[in-house]
Amino acid sequence: MLELDNNYLDTVEEKHFSLAREKKAHGAKVVGIYCAFTPKEIITAAGAIPVALCSGSSDSIPSAEEHLPRNLCPLIKASYGSALTERCPYFYLADILVADATCDGKKKMYELLSRIKEVHLLSLPQMPDLRSSYDQWLSELYRLKEYLENETGILISDDKLWESIKQYNRVRQLKRAIFELNRGPIPLLSGSEISIAVDSGGFEVDLPGDIDRYLQVIDFAKKRGGIRPRPRILLTGCPTTSKKVLHCLEEYANVVAFENCGGLKSIIESVDETGNPMEAIARSSLRLACPCMSPNELRYQLVASLIKDYTIEGVVDLTWQACHTYNIESYSLGDFVRREKGVPFLQIETDYSESDLNWIKLRIEAFIEML
Ligand code: SF4
Ligand code: SF4
Repeated sequence: MLELDNNYLDTVEEKHFSLAREKKAHGAKVVGIYCAFTPKEIITAAGAIPVALCSGSSDSIPSAEEHLPRNLCPLIKASYGSALTERCPYFYLADILVADATCDGKKKMYELLSRIKEVHLLSLPQMPDLRSSYDQWLSELYRLKEYLENETGILISDDKLWESIKQYNRVRQLKRAIFELNRGPIPLLSGSEISIAVDSGGFEVDLPGDIDRYLQVIDFAKKRGGIRPRPRILLTGCPTTSKKVLHCLEEYANVVAFENCGGLKSIIESVDETGNPMEAIARSSLRLACPCMSPNELRYQLVASLIKDYTIEGVVDLTWQACHTYNIESYSLGDFVRREKGVPFLQIETDYSESDLNWIKLRIEAFIEML
C-alpha cells in the first residue's frame, strides 16, 4: 500500500536525482529556478531540466546572515545560504540559474548569488493588468528563449514548446485533481499527504513518470477512503517551503487546500493550447496570484473560490518574517475573508526556527476552538 510520507518523497527525489545526473552526463543542462513565474515549459523545450532551489531548511541561515541582513525573509536567506555553503546538491548540479525580479529581497539576493553562479534575471512587470506589462513579459520570455538556445545549443521550435506545454498542462490538471479529492464532506488526503503528493520531487526530469505517479496517488486515495473529519482549513500566504505551520495546524484541523505557491496558486492556470505558444505561456504565467503584483485581484478571486469549493471553515495566512508583500496584503485579505465571505481568518507571522512553536500552537488552538 502506498504511503504518502517522507520515504515516498525521498524515493521520488532519489530517482529524479540519478536521472538528472545521467542526462547531465549526456549533455543536458540543469536550470535552477526560484519562482513560480519562471516558465518551465521554455526550459524543458530546450532539453534542459528545471529544478526549484527555494530552500525550507534553517541550517544554512547563519552563513547567509554573514552577507544578508538578519531581518530578511527566511526563504531568501535559506536559499542563498544553501548556495553559499555548498550544502545543496541541487544547486551544485545546476549549470545556470533563471530568476524573476519579484520582491526586493529576492532581487538583491540574486545579485549576490550571481557571484557564485550565472543568473539570468527576468524583468517581471508588476502591474499585470496593463497591456504594456504583457508586452514586456512576452519580450522577456523571448529573451529567455534566446538565452537558453545559446546555452543548450538547441533550437526551441514551436513543436517542442507545444509538447512541453501539453505535458505541463497534464501535470497541473492531475495536481488539481489531487487537491479536488478533498472537496467532499470527508477529505481523502491530509494536508501533509497532499503536500508530498504534489511535490515535483526536485529535478523535473521525467514528466511522463510524474504523470503516472499522480494517477497512482489518485487511485490510492480513492481506494483508501476518507480521513477523520475535523475543521476544514485553507492555508494561504507565503510558499510553504518549511512545513512548520502546516504541521502545527494538523494537530488541530484538516488542511484541505493550499492557496500558496507549490499549492493551487501555481497550478490553477493551464496554458492555452492554441495560437502562438510563446504568447500563450506569457498570458498564463502572468496570471499568478502573487502579492508582488499590484493590484493582486486574482488572489482574492482564488481564495473566494477555494472557500466555496472546499467548504472552508477557517483561513490561515502564513507570512514569513520580513515578507512585506504578503504581510501588507494580509490586512486586506483578512478583511475580505472575514467581512465578505464570513469566514474566520488568522495570520501567522513566523520564520523557520522552532522557538515560537508553542506560541503558534496556542494561537491555532484558540482559533480552531472559535470555529
Ligand atoms: S509567492 Fe510570488 S515571488 Fe514567491 S515564489 Fe510565488 S510567485 Fe514567486
Ligand atoms: S516569501 Fe515574501 S519576501 Fe520571501 S521570497 Fe517570497 S515574496 Fe519574497
